[in-house]
Amino acid sequence: MTTYVYDFSEGRRDMAGLLGGKGANLAEMARMGLPVPPGFTVTTEACRIFLATGQAPDGLDRQIGEHLAALERASGKRLGQVDDPLLLSVRSGARFSMPGMMETILDIGLNDLSVLGLAKTPERERFAWDSYRRLVQMFGSTVMGVDGSHFEAALAAVKQQHSRGDDTQLDTCDLIRIVETFKDLIHERTGEEFPQDPAEQLRRAVLAVFTSWNGERARLYRRREHIPDDLGTAVNIQTMVFGNLGPDSGSGVAFTRDPATGRPGVYGDYLPNAQGEDVVAGIRNTVPLQDLAGLDPASFARLRGYMDRLEAHYRDLCDIEFTIERGTLWMLQTRVGKRTAQAAFAIASQLADEGLISEREALGRVGGEALARLMFPRFATTDSSEVIARGVPASPGAAVGAVVFDSAEAVRRAAAGEKVVLVRQETTPDDLPGMVAAQAVLTSRGGKTSHAAVVARGMGKVCVCGAEGIVVDTRQRRFSAGGVTVTEGTVVSVDGSEGVVRLGSVPLVDSDVMRYFEEGGVLPADGTARQPVRDVHRLMRQADAVRGLEVRANADTPEDAARARRFGAQGIGLCRTEHMFLGDRRPLVEAMILAHGDTEREAALAALLPLQRQDFTGILEAMDGLPVTVRLLDPPLHEFLPDRTELAVRLARGEALGTPADPHDSELLAAVTRMHEENPMLGLRGVRLGLVVPGLVAMQVRALAEAVVARRHAGGDPRAEIMVPLVDAVEELHLVREEVDRVLAEVSLETGVDVTCPVGTMIELPRAALTAGRIAKEAAFFSFGTNDLTQTTWGFSRDDVEAAFFSAYLDKGVFPVSPFETIDREGVGRLVRIAVEEGRAARPDLKIGVCGEHGGDPASVHFFHGAGLDYVSCSPFRVPIARLEAGRAAL
Ligand code: PEP
Ligand code: MG
Repeated sequence: MTTYVYDFSEGRRDMAGLLGGKGANLAEMARMGLPVPPGFTVTTEACRIFLATGQAPDGLDRQIGEHLAALERASGKRLGQVDDPLLLSVRSGARFSMPGMMETILDIGLNDLSVLGLAKTPERERFAWDSYRRLVQMFGSTVMGVDGSHFEAALAAVKQQHSRGDDTQLDTCDLIRIVETFKDLIHERTGEEFPQDPAEQLRRAVLAVFTSWNGERARLYRRREHIPDDLGTAVNIQTMVFGNLGPDSGSGVAFTRDPATGRPGVYGDYLPNAQGEDVVAGIRNTVPLQDLAGLDPASFARLRGYMDRLEAHYRDLCDIEFTIERGTLWMLQTRVGKRTAQAAFAIASQLADEGLISEREALGRVGGEALARLMFPRFATTDSSEVIARGVPASPGAAVGAVVFDSAEAVRRAAAGEKVVLVRQETTPDDLPGMVAAQAVLTSRGGKTSHAAVVARGMGKVCVCGAEGIVVDTRQRRFSAGGVTVTEGTVVSVDGSEGVVRLGSVPLVDSDVMRYFEEGGVLPADGTARQPVRDVHRLMRQADAVRGLEVRANADTPEDAARARRFGAQGIGLCRTEHMFLGDRRPLVEAMILAHGDTEREAALAALLPLQRQDFTGILEAMDGLPVTVRLLDPPLHEFLPDRTELAVRLARGEALGTPADPHDSELLAAVTRMHEENPMLGLRGVRLGLVVPGLVAMQVRALAEAVVARRHAGGDPRAEIMVPLVDAVEELHLVREEVDRVLAEVSLETGVDVTCPVGTMIELPRAALTAGRIAKEAAFFSFGTNDLTQTTWGFSRDDVEAAFFSAYLDKGVFPVSPFETIDREGVGRLVRIAVEEGRAARPDLKIGVCGEHGGDPASVHFFHGAGLDYVSCSPFRVPIARLEAGRAAL
């Protein structure tokens, strides 16, 4: 019989796949002897079965019943008993944290009778009826599907009728009335009564949590965070403890280090006389956690002790949720906490310094995406005179955008290309689409642990929260702050590192970390580097020390080559020569294409040759001593000719106006028409072009060879390599190689300088991958062109599909991330593995790299490491990211 339910005493931290993160960590804390309210966890497997079949698995009800009975025996209380009933919370908890995206139902076990038992004494009456009110409301909307706004409206009506300003002014009589109204509402809307049987409440609550795995906001969050759709959520059923029983009670969130900067210390928020939900919702403003030391010194000291134990046990930053019920501290959750990019590097370094983790482990704790964030620009000013609002610096970075006041408007404007800043009093999970669309989030309420802060940090979005000085008027679509009124559409600059907002668009400067890379990855000798730069430096050195993959850059100008080298590139893996033919030189290419006969074409090629030679010389100089892989021309030819329709219209207009047609235009139109391809990406490009345009390959090879000669004469150490694109069949490569070898031999003979160099090929078509063994016989190296290989393996036009239907595909879960962004291991990756294996079998010394966009994508770098490649090549700005990830892949 499959076990679907585990008591907290039976689980462990490494069971997160089955028990979800929350369940596994509750079990771990219970094992450590920390005070965890007793409970048990329903597995993700049960959820997956329910989602697949629409039915709870056989035996689940029975197992829940058994665990509940054990809980009742241990606590001496029964669910639903009239006198002092056991109450339960039912919470989701997936393997990966999805804060606030799924459902929670509290106070299960209350009904018309047990509410009286909970009330016990007159001073608890209000609390008991408020709890019942919350249950009926939560259960009605979450489990029974009544739109939450009906409850809000009913609540508002009672408040208005009895002139109550806010919820806290409602007395017991009001609450009793509200419970009745809510129950009627449920009956009216669903035809069903609110269930009085606590066992039924529990069973239905569990299924509602399962169902919420596929709720809209959960799906959107998963897509954004690349969390697979098929994991399912666990459900944690736990004895309720109450932080709202008076001034000696409360709830809070604690971090063992500052999640924004990584600084050690006590960080967190505390809310006296409140339930945990109130803290995270950011509805009331919390006090800093340190204040608990004054309010309840004993609980504070105990909490500090537990924080230290948890950090030493998890060997990482932990975030913790706790509740104090009448002076008794309860631990409700812990997990390895989310953190900003800066904090990730800082904490990894500190923990290594403290000897808690090794240098290698420290490298495993950071990642390329975090590094990329540290390379973003920051604001140029620290001037406080322009500041209109200050709040909590919840998620760092600099963002400029037009103010909007709701999620829908954020999405609408962002879709039209506008940069926006979402301003809310506080955010709820329903704001998620707007947060995704916005550059930054600004709220007037809530601390570092509010929904806005947690979600923004997770996404790497700039966030300032709890900016108390601003008054948000969503209805009038404006906010006022620092004496100014800011209406929708006004541009503001949000500094998530400092927690300030300025009016207008503040200029940006490069980040320190970017400057560090620009300066060649060395720390200034005077020791002035800021700590975040030193942390990055330390972990980059560690990555470089352990990585097996070389990192090269895709660059086609001397400037890019020089930058790539400063960023740590070990050569150029792809120099796209077609990029050298654009701009002013386009007419020369046009002349080559339109040439009548050999003489004209040779003249056109001769005009191009010195320009190419000059380009190559500059690049070889910038990469002196390092390999430079020059790829022969690979554009669809139409890119060098004017647009056919435009040309036809111009000629037709001329005709209509009676102006004589420019003979050049007529000739061009004829050529463009002749060369027109329905599917240029699959047409005359790559090696095909080299084989049909006489003299083209020879010109490029000669230009490169002569550049090598020039560099040698200048005392340099040029290391050119020639790469043939879009090869399908070994015969193509063979033919091109004959020409390449002939020209290299010619130049060697003419100049007395040996210019022979490795000639290799790109593997970017499935046929090439499948015949790699034969192709390797003619190639000194392979470089996977995974852009084209993805295009041709999937049959996706790389220029069209992302806009056309990828968002629908991502929505429907065809893939969790675009295969143009992260390598598709199953399909394209399989071709890569076949080509590596068969290529190396045919030629053991075959050097193999990748130069498609995937070369700089963190997840893909790990794949290429595993597939046994020698190097990855990516754009210069991604070189540091690839270095870091290559190091992590080797751990
Ligand atoms: C590729 O196809 O992956 C590649 C690097 O070539 P390009 O992007 O220039 O087609
Ligand atoms: Mg290509």
